[in-house]
Amino acid sequence: MASSSLKPKVAEGPAVGIDLGTTYSCVAVWRHGHCEVIANDQGNRLTPSCVAFNDDERLVGDAAFNQAASNPTNTIFEVKRLIGRRFSDESVQGDAKLWPFKVVADADNRPVIVVQYQGKEKWLPPEQISSTVLAKMRETAEVYLGKTVKNAVVTVPVYFNNSQRQATMDAGAIAGLNVLRIIPEPTAAALAYGLEKMPISSYRSRRTLLVFDLGGGTFDVSLLKIDAGIDGMDQGVFEVVATAGDTHLGGADFDNELVKYALKEFMRKHPINTGISCNNKALRWLRTACERAKRMLSFTAQTTIEVDALHDGIDFSTNITRSRFEELKKDLFSRCVKELEKCLRDAKMDRSSVHHVVLVGGSTRIPKVQDMLQKFCNGKELCRKINPDEAVAYGAAIQASILGGGTDNKRLVDVVLREVTPLSLGIEIEDDYTMSVVILRNTAIPTKKVARYTTLYDNQTSVTTPVFEGESASTKDNNLLSTFELTGIPPAPKGVPKFNVTYDIDANGVLKVTEGRKSGITILNHGGRLRKGELARLVQEAKSEW
Ligand code: ADP
Ligand code: MG
Repeated sequence: MASSSLKPKVAEGPAVGIDLGTTYSCVAVWRHGHCEVIANDQGNRLTPSCVAFNDDERLVGDAAFNQAASNPTNTIFEVKRLIGRRFSDESVQGDAKLWPFKVVADADNRPVIVVQYQGKEKWLPPEQISSTVLAKMRETAEVYLGKTVKNAVVTVPVYFNNSQRQATMDAGAIAGLNVLRIIPEPTAAALAYGLEKMPISSYRSRRTLLVFDLGGGTFDVSLLKIDAGIDGMDQGVFEVVATAGDTHLGGADFDNELVKYALKEFMRKHPINTGISCNNKALRWLRTACERAKRMLSFTAQTTIEVDALHDGIDFSTNITRSRFEELKKDLFSRCVKELEKCLRDAKMDRSSVHHVVLVGGSTRIPKVQDMLQKFCNGKELCRKINPDEAVAYGAAIQASILGGGTDNKRLVDVVLREVTPLSLGIEIEDDYTMSVVILRNTAIPTKKVARYTTLYDNQTSVTTPVFEGESASTKDNNLLSTFELTGIPPAPKGVPKFNVTYDIDANGVLKVTEGRKSGITILNHGGRLRKGELARLVQEAKSEW
């Protein structure tokens, strides 16, 4: 595949990389031969992926995050857990129970967030919330660069399916961005470290990288192979060979353990003062104080969890040592180790064959996490040259510069990422839920596959085909991506009409289905995605102050 055919359309101006995280987002740009992580208007290099609404205004980032305790039902966070999913998904049902804001289903079984904004009830699709965060990141970059920013590479978790990737691209479009490419987070981190740690020439030998990403709410571990280009071309091939992890394991769990500890301490000191566990505001304040204490414990041996007038006017303060904290979350560490083992098992690899171990995510700053990982890898040195919570944005910025035609650095020119499909794609041919695979998992993308279809009975004028992704032999256990319908088939005996249906997965991992005849093909549904008219409306709405 010639690299030029992989190049997306580039708009005028610079190209940035955006790590759109579950809890924090980060934007970076490649300039003057190095990567610059851009601080927001509060001076922070990470921006909470948080949007809030009140009677007067809409708040984004730090401003939204800082008022969360006093406006919990209208402060939206972790929307990445919703994007591109169906309302009825088990994970959506589970998450919605824990959030203080309201999530309902729309007519197409997609999740919608309900908020009170300027005195009215407003229904917002996840794409719109994410687009608000993306727009904030774009503005942050614009202020810094003094230019309009259109082009961006946006990262997603490696396991994000078609609908989730497409929905993320839609969020970008609503934010006024030209999304050059969607790339997986571990690939971005590997690219950042690859460039910092290894000379491009070392891509010529096969290297294995373990990317350990422990963020705010999710844990992802990925094994990547980095190889020299194929066909004698100078391309770095980055291939994710195995992934494991836990979508509900991260910094928030460490915070929870600390909150439990602090509550116990409060009740021990004030045994007659019950009711604190029902005081939502007090709990929020306590959580903020605990998170702060947790961060401190990454650098100091002990600290204080402190909140003035926490409950019933009582000031609360308690000491905690790093070793006590590590004791509290022992089982969280062992859950990490289990996933590491699973990832290596899936890749049929031994831990000794890993060449580099890369730390990603704010929670990998915890010394005990680093110790545990280093021990697991037989004492191997961990790569910590780049801030773990900035590595993904860093890699995205490199890729943005390459795709955006950045010419200021020779180091970049030769690196082209090649990705593979994370999940197999197939259709249900019979009524017995059998998954017939069309494009196998781990196929290099972009890829195209033509399948021939015919009718099953005489005078059939339409054929309806559901498309699934996943590795199960039964479509019941896979994700329904979309359903297409071939219509206008001239009446004929069964088996006579013939059509060629093309399944096209682009470089972003997004599927398009087309068919040769003019009478055409109708896409009946798009899984959890926005409809075309709806996207256009949201793009329009975003241009005005909504
Ligand atoms: P995301 O999940 O959005 O990718 P990040 O990778 O930025 O998020 O990780 C955010 C998490 O990292 C939060 O739970 C935060 O408390 C935690 N964190 C940030 N800095 C530290 C630190 N110094 N010590 C421990 N945890 C930290
Ligand atoms: Mg992250």
